[in-house]
Amino acid sequence: MSVPVGRFAPTPSGRMHLGNVFAALIAWLSVRSRGGALVLRMEDLDTQRTSDEYAEVLRKDLCWLGLTWDVETEAQSKRGAVYDRYFELLADMGLLYPCYCTRSQLHSVNAPHLSDGTYVYTGTCRNLDDQQRAAFGRAPAWRVQVPDRDWVVEDLVQGTYRENLATDCGDFVVRRADGVYVYQLAVTVDDGEAGVTEVVRGMDLLSSAPRQMYLQELLGFSQPVYGHVPMLMAPDGRRLSKRDRDMDLGYLQNHTTPEKLIGLLACAAGLTPTPAPISARELAGEFRWEKLSKENICPDISQIL
Ligand code: GLU
Repeated sequence: MSVPVGRFAPTPSGRMHLGNVFAALIAWLSVRSRGGALVLRMEDLDTQRTSDEYAEVLRKDLCWLGLTWDVETEAQSKRGAVYDRYFELLADMGLLYPCYCTRSQLHSVNAPHLSDGTYVYTGTCRNLDDQQRAAFGRAPAWRVQVPDRDWVVEDLVQGTYRENLATDCGDFVVRRADGVYVYQLAVTVDDGEAGVTEVVRGMDLLSSAPRQMYLQELLGFSQPVYGHVPMLMAPDGRRLSKRDRDMDLGYLQNHTTPEKLIGLLACAAGLTPTPAPISARELAGEFRWEKLSKENICPDISQIL
């Protein structure tokens, strides 16, 4: 059997919070417990929000946690020319069309809205003729047509997740009107080119997997195994975000140790019976996907401060 290749693909837009730490820990444990390799990639497509400084802090934070990687692949902001090639492939297949819808049109016309606030695109711009397109007089976004077909994710944590892209999502954008490629295309290309065999990340990205599986199939990449790990919640039941300063690594590094933090997360996630301090390396010996909780987890940070 070939060696598993996992990845951690953070967005360097701030200090890591506990949810990011948890996703990175599980991605690391999964491959390291089986002698596999880990790829690190900075997802900095949104150059307004991301920076090299944050990327550097992220690397240091991962080292502090003991979550080592084998190779760091090129940051997404540097890969426009690579994405251009794959975009052209899709265009050659006749699957792309320009979309001129504005944000407000997208939200008013395209019902029904899904629970996460996204909409199902109903294909407003799919059949415009050249004259209609020219009349807009501005650069379009580009959408890929999706087939009326079910995509089934056999997720290591969440079990079977099924989605029909035609009815649950609609044709989706692969390049924005300002020329920036979107996450779905970039992540598919980057994971595919890096030979990633397993994608471990937060549960909030489960509904992205079918779009990525579709692009993998079109672009000739093998499908990785997916593991979407539970989200970490703040004590008041909200999902943690980068705004929760007291849960970010800057604060935690000054108030606790990596072993205490990993011990707490491992116990809250069902991996260990007690929150006793443990290093990532020690925990790798005990890691099993079956032990991992499916439910959102709410670790009591006050125990380790
Ligand atoms: N860059 C995304 C994030 O930081 C993760 C994307 C992925 O793992 O596919 O949330």
